[in-house]
Amino acid sequence: MKALVPVKRVVDYNVKVRVKSDGTGVDIANVKMSMNPFDEIAVEEATRLKEKGALTEVVAVSCGVTQAQETLRTAMAIGADRGILVESTEELQPLAVAKLLKALVEKEKPDLIILGKQAIDDDCNQTGQMLAALLDLPQATFASKVEVADGYATVTREVDGGLETIKLKLPAVITTDLRLNEPRYVTLPNIMKAKKKPLETVKPADLGVDVAPRIKTLKVSEPPKRGAGVKVPDVATLVQKLKNEAKVI
Ligand code: AMP
Repeated sequence: MKALVPVKRVVDYNVKVRVKSDGTGVDIANVKMSMNPFDEIAVEEATRLKEKGALTEVVAVSCGVTQAQETLRTAMAIGADRGILVESTEELQPLAVAKLLKALVEKEKPDLIILGKQAIDDDCNQTGQMLAALLDLPQATFASKVEVADGYATVTREVDGGLETIKLKLPAVITTDLRLNEPRYVTLPNIMKAKKKPLETVKPADLGVDVAPRIKTLKVSEPPKRGAGVKVPDVATLVQKLKNEAKVI
């Protein structure tokens, strides 16, 4: 039983991003990059499934620039057995990533593909769903609990009204939500061990995938600045302002 875990290199969640002065995108020069937090949860979950004996191999894959190797090394320090870098300097949109992952799934034949529910840079929340559609595989998005046994995955999903539990036949695609687990702290010995794990590099053309962007970003702008607040002397004034100025009550 093998799991494929796609991990994306994104701007670290602690970085306050700035829009480039020409409005063409976000300035990522010299900012700290890390693994997408939902993908860390996915690697942790796959590692725990392996530790429980439900899986035998965890393969991390990242699509992007050469430096995404660092993201793969982090995945291997958490517990992935090996890494695959699909190296490209193009802007990789969810459909392109889904096509690359489809090609890798056909090659690697994993029983489970566990992705993050969304990447915190583009906030698309599309790749897992597109991958499941391209492969015609069952999918369980926004997972907060995953159990794997006897060729099936039982997944509890976070839905609007609460929780939903579904059973999927493997192979299947699962995307992780925040409450699925708390990723372990990566220790120095495991970082050292990860350096020795196999890391293969392929190009999109090797997988026969055209990654040309299908969507063009026209403009990126900062959200409008919030105006300063006011202090009110008492509750009566607050109620009066909410009624007459904000008109919310
Ligand atoms: P998105 O649809 O862009 O919000 O991304 C959802 C998930 O797809 C992420 O959490 C990753 O698991 C995976 N993913 C997206 N882009 C990449 C990439 N370039 N390399 C590897 N995995 C990716």
